[in-house]
Amino acid sequence: MEAVSCPICSVSLKLLSEREREEHCDICLDSCSFLETNQNRKRAFSELEEITITSTSTNENHSPSSNGLIKQPRTAVNNSKWASILKGKEASVDSPVKTGNNFISKQRQMPFYKVLRFGEQKIAVDAFNYNKIPNVTAYFLTHFHSDHYGGLGKTWSHGPIYCSPETARLVILQLKVDPQYIHPVEFNKEVEINNIKVLFLDANHCPGAAIILFNRDVLHTGDFRASEDLIIELKKHRVQLKTLYLDTTYLDPSRKFPPQQTVIDTCAQLCSYLQSRPARYDFFFQRNLKQKILVLVGTYTIGKERIAVGIAKALNTKIWAAPSKRKILEAIGDNQITDILGETENECQVYLTYMNEVNLAKMKPRWNKWRNSYSQVIGIVPTGWTWKSSAQKFDLETLKNKNAYTSADQGSIRVYKVPYSEHSSYAELENFCHEIPCRNIISTVTSKNQNILQQWQKQGKAKSDTKSSHH
Ligand SMILES: [Zn+2]
Ligand SMILES: [Zn+2]
Repeated sequence: MEAVSCPICSVSLKLLSEREREEHCDICLDSCSFLETNQNRKRAFSELEEITITSTSTNENHSPSSNGLIKQPRTAVNNSKWASILKGKEASVDSPVKTGNNFISKQRQMPFYKVLRFGEQKIAVDAFNYNKIPNVTAYFLTHFHSDHYGGLGKTWSHGPIYCSPETARLVILQLKVDPQYIHPVEFNKEVEINNIKVLFLDANHCPGAAIILFNRDVLHTGDFRASEDLIIELKKHRVQLKTLYLDTTYLDPSRKFPPQQTVIDTCAQLCSYLQSRPARYDFFFQRNLKQKILVLVGTYTIGKERIAVGIAKALNTKIWAAPSKRKILEAIGDNQITDILGETENECQVYLTYMNEVNLAKMKPRWNKWRNSYSQVIGIVPTGWTWKSSAQKFDLETLKNKNAYTSADQGSIRVYKVPYSEHSSYAELENFCHEIPCRNIISTVTSKNQNILQQWQKQGKAKSDTKSSHH
């Protein structure tokens, strides 16, 4: 089967018109052109018409190239393209090179999708790890997670940074970026930046996370959990997408998980249930244990706080956050969270804890301290990676089951992994691409399942064709 694919990102361009193909490749090429020679650029263009997918094998050993971005054989398929980019990413986590008094990390390989072009303007999204990117006039930050802001720090001077007000406060507070570079953009209010129309919408990810609509036809989702509200909002703005930069974290049909509210409610029920059980006898202290549980909820710097809020309300208690974490939560300024924070550890039965603290190995040594006040310590690890199938219902009965958790000290310590995700499930992604069709979808996360994206592109093209034929 003949198939034309982009020489840079390898996604199929079969459905695009000649002009759209060029435009797509232009975006890709431009994004990494400062790493390339004109030679490569010309070669990539001349290959454009000839590239055919002849094999789906992805493990061929390609000769290592200095840039890993363009030197691919003509038979390259999506996955190998991505594999080499990912390899480049890994290789780029080099130890810093010491020069004089400064640590300067080596120039990293920039994936093609980090730079977007609008006419003469070039802007970068979540691309702070690549020093100054030539001709980029504005840097956008979708949200405050390290895989997106990585590279930002107090020495930043490469250009203006546009982000939500919440993210802006965190960037200044936590990363000490000079405020003169920070330009907060309000949600739901279209603004013009360097002649580009820009609209920030709630990404339904961590606090302050935005998806960004450029010129009403290019959408960058950053990290997002697609919701009905978001689809309604985009439809209200009558968007007809030319290009979609998509968070494909769970682009895999086996990734199914329940709505966030179901998980919040079920965890709250679980904690109420555990606390209401009859008293147990503590052989260590030879006494009846008070039925009072402590709940540790794993979070990142920001994100997944809502699950802790739900549990705290059910237990009628407050949430403890270490001072450093509290500072961050107050900077975000979400009353739903700050109103329920306790002043002392003792008055709180729910702790917001860093994700890597919530496991049996870390919790066991602390049990001797906790057992004076609590009958049981529950760890909640919210993650989208645990729930492989929908065959298992996520409800209280399931969580009561022994294989729903790991435990230590005769069940006094339990750790539950729950399918609470701040990324879209596969079904949500599919629905999003169905409702907001686009014939040019660029994955910003995974190399996996590009064939699914191609199918969605095809459906997007069919939709936009019917639309234009109605004119
Ligand atoms: Zn994120
Ligand atoms: Zn991310």
